[in-house]
Amino acid sequence: MKKSHLFTPGPTPIPPDALLAMAQPIDYHRSDDTVALIKDVLEKLKHVFQTENDVLFLTSSGTGAMEGAVTNLLCRGDRVIVLRSGKFGERWAEICDTYGVNVLPIDVRWGDSVSPERVEAELSSQPDAKAVFATLCETSTGVLHDIEALAGITQNTPTLLVVDAVSALGADDLQMDKWGVDVIVSCSQKGLMTPPGLAFAALSQRAWEATEKSDLPKYYLDYRKAHKRGLEGSVPYTPAVTLLIALQCALNRICDEGIRNTITRHSLMARATRNAVKAIGLPLFASSPANTLTSIRLPKEIDGKAFVKMMRERHGITYAGGQGELSGKIVRIAHLGWMNADDVIVAISAFERGLMEIGYDVELGAGVAAAQEIFTKLTNTE
Ligand code: PMP
Repeated sequence: MKKSHLFTPGPTPIPPDALLAMAQPIDYHRSDDTVALIKDVLEKLKHVFQTENDVLFLTSSGTGAMEGAVTNLLCRGDRVIVLRSGKFGERWAEICDTYGVNVLPIDVRWGDSVSPERVEAELSSQPDAKAVFATLCETSTGVLHDIEALAGITQNTPTLLVVDAVSALGADDLQMDKWGVDVIVSCSQKGLMTPPGLAFAALSQRAWEATEKSDLPKYYLDYRKAHKRGLEGSVPYTPAVTLLIALQCALNRICDEGIRNTITRHSLMARATRNAVKAIGLPLFASSPANTLTSIRLPKEIDGKAFVKMMRERHGITYAGGQGELSGKIVRIAHLGWMNADDVIVAISAFERGLMEIGYDVELGAGVAAAQEIFTKLTNTE
């Protein structure tokens, strides 16, 4: 009998109460109950975004909130700095190109994190840049970018800092208000333990001011409309009501745990996974790895695509493979959302066994022991 385990950086497993809630009969989106639901969800999202700013939601995947950030903040012909260190940094640049925004790219080798000094230097030579577009966790490589340092730079300039936290929200720390981040976008199917289909954005006061001047075309992804209606517990268009119900269950879990504890749990799972991978004898791909996922560089003799396919088909274990130029070269194991130490142990033990099955020389249990060491160390110091 095959049992499925999802270790991808989105979608992530859904808690059972959220699954059950979605099986309830659908409600009218203008009912008093849905108004209360929307207000509750938007309030709880502030806790996850670590902000007093309002959070808005859209019925779209994460890319919808990214596109909305570009079209709502910018004007035709604006210049923006875009950090490109993987597929999702590239996406920021592609969206900007689509709308005729001039991109000043900072290209970083895939697997590396951008140096804040480079951003500071670019910003001093391009002081009229309207925004810096960054990514908290570049999911394609598993790298974490130092958003706190970037916010320290942009805060003292008129340039906005816009952060894609699509995968990392709730896993890697992102203190919107304390650090001075202007815009954060995210979505439902990652750290928020909800199916795909909802996207979110939080904007600082000066980011809202930019939306008033923006002249790029927008209709469905109009942030100001979504924001205004959201405050009333309403929406401009029919929302994914079912997903909002699931999201409420997931947010209740995060609020009960407390976002700081949620991030600590992810940090621990990430440390355990990294320790395990090292003990197995494989190199980590990311120079500064995120809590969201661990990417592992595979030796040349392993075909990463075939390995990922075999694990899913034979064992029901789904890891993510590499994207773009990393296709076949890395495996990505997510420890994201509704997961704990025992899920990590499953991910690692299956990984070891899978490697053995394809003939790679691995000492069974070495990775599991290394992961357990991290988990027990914490328990002993608590
Ligand atoms: N940014 C990042 C960092 C992501 O990980 C993803 C999804 N993997 C996206 C953007 C795009 O999100 P979606 O597929 O929900 O549009």
